[in-house]
Amino acid sequence: MQITIIASGSGGNATLFASRGTRVLVDAGVGPRVLAQCLAAAATAGCTSGSTSSSTSDWTPDAIVVTHAHADHVGVAARYNKKHKIPIYASEATARAAHLGDPERVRLFSPREPFAIGALTFSPRPLPHDAAQVALVVDDGARRAALVTDLGEVPPGLLEHVAGCDVLMLESNYDEDMLDAGPYPQHLKRRILSARGHLSNAQACALLAALPGGTHTVALMHLSENNNRPDLALAAARDALLGKRARLLAAPPRGPLVLDTAPPPGAARAPLAARQLGLFPGM
Ligand SMILES: [Zn+2]
Ligand SMILES: [Zn+2]
Repeated sequence: MQITIIASGSGGNATLFASRGTRVLVDAGVGPRVLAQCLAAAATAGCTSGSTSSSTSDWTPDAIVVTHAHADHVGVAARYNKKHKIPIYASEATARAAHLGDPERVRLFSPREPFAIGALTFSPRPLPHDAAQVALVVDDGARRAALVTDLGEVPPGLLEHVAGCDVLMLESNYDEDMLDAGPYPQHLKRRILSARGHLSNAQACALLAALPGGTHTVALMHLSENNNRPDLALAAARDALLGKRARLLAAPPRGPLVLDTAPPPGAARAPLAARQLGLFPGM
């Protein structure tokens, strides 16, 4: 399984999962043109196999799965539905709250039941957020990866849900001091801090510290550009992962960031050889 983070943050979210001929985009916060540009850049850099053409149609995914109805995750889903005629998978609550385009191509999933798209199986789990939101574990039979963003707190059972995944992509949205001292109005600060808001660096670290073995790569996701800094989030996470053999990355607002989920040959327990493009300096 190959994972390409196309975008991560309040400006838009999109992550492509590919395995054995199946390509599924999770969240549609960026349009087909940005998706094509990112995937072409990744291919040119040797991070992905296949064509290096930048033609949009070459990069059309087989399907889109949206995690929840906020615009930074679902904003462009209807356009993919209309223009590329690909199915959009969503929970019933998300489908009710968001415009996903032609209902004939909308597929509903239960937030607690696994579902398959080609070679990939998706296992959702509800997350506390101010929209019906799910964490997703994506499994191709050989590797497992978890995508966990947009949650106000770590709910019971989440650790068990993501335990043992090769790759964990986890929200690390804000530094509490930066949020407190920052320019946001009080009501917005309260929303972010609430149990249905976003996950702080400290909250992400508590989950990382409790993570059992088996995860060889952790990518910090959905970093706020106003209330966080990659160096702060990474420093905190590095401490939390002390003693664990995990490679640590921070997803930039705009990718590509390519994660090869297979450990390097001959080093089954070694950190993953993930390649980074366009990352923040000092990592
Ligand atoms: Zn979001
Ligand atoms: Zn959200």
